[in-house]
Amino acid sequence: MTMSPPTHFAPLLRVFDTVPVFADLVRFSRSASPTYRPYKGKIPPKWHSAARKKGFTITEWVKDRLHVSLLCHCCNRTHAKRVSVILAHYPECPHCIQIRRVEEAGASGARLLGRDPKSRHYGHYRLACGHQVQRQYHRVALAAQGGHGLGCETCREQRYKEQAHKFGWNLIGPAQSGKLGYRSFQHTCGQVQDIMIGNMNWGDCACKKCSSGRASKPSFIYIFRIGLPGQPVIKLGYSVRPEKRLRYQLGNDKNVETEVLRVIHLPTGHDARCEEERAHKTLAALHPELVVSKTKYGDGVNTVGEIYRPEAVGIIHRLLDEIKKRFPDIAA
Ligand SMILES: [Zn+2]
Ligand SMILES: [Zn+2]
Ligand SMILES: [Zn+2]
Repeated sequence: MTMSPPTHFAPLLRVFDTVPVFADLVRFSRSASPTYRPYKGKIPPKWHSAARKKGFTITEWVKDRLHVSLLCHCCNRTHAKRVSVILAHYPECPHCIQIRRVEEAGASGARLLGRDPKSRHYGHYRLACGHQVQRQYHRVALAAQGGHGLGCETCREQRYKEQAHKFGWNLIGPAQSGKLGYRSFQHTCGQVQDIMIGNMNWGDCACKKCSSGRASKPSFIYIFRIGLPGQPVIKLGYSVRPEKRLRYQLGNDKNVETEVLRVIHLPTGHDARCEEERAHKTLAALHPELVVSKTKYGDGVNTVGEIYRPEAVGIIHRLLDEIKKRFPDIAA
């Protein structure tokens, strides 16, 4: 028995034919199939009438005496069904279900790729953004009915990441506490903490490390000149009290001539540290020849880096000018 499908199904059936998951649905109706083992006998008239009432026509026995092939009055395709289902329940046409799922996917901006082999309630979808996701069919149906698209976790996390970057945070992953609506973020200072996503979107995200103690107090970026014997050097750094740092913390010889060339004031120690680090990175990247290695100055200065040749002083002044421009409210 062959019937051509109604014309309004034509586009869907084209999609349908390209989706491999349907292949097994029609398997029993193919006489060429190795699984085709028709039962010889007359199909009882009451089965025919039960099937008709439920929107199907029984076309033949398939597989064994408990299964028949049902022709769906809706999509004109056949599938195998247990007789008991036809008599006692309302059989559903797997093709119609699949056609509906393809339609629902389209209505929510996605494409159904196939079913999830691990769960009959889930399908795999390609979203408009290009990401592939797994979704419950009924969720897709709800989205389609509501006229909205399927959300993409990958894109959403990317948006959170970009938003966090604006405020100096890096999205690490799920919240350490496991709380819903939170993620784990790392601040530029290294501090890792859980922050509510809603708060991060507004920049309402105080760093537990920076917003308390020394890092929140005003600080300075300084340029020192240190007259090491035979090798005068420049030190760029930050400190709450630069003069004190120069005199006591560098640990240099009392006879070494030192001088504070410049200090600029920054609102917090955290700002000072970030800006100072940025300046060191710029110098190392653009003027590596001006960096004096620890092996050259040894214990003359009690620090592991941040030391430059005297010729660097002009460039360092310019870097400090740029920092000042980024903090226009602060007087030097
Ligand atoms: Zn159907
Ligand atoms: Zn996406
Ligand atoms: Zn911090």
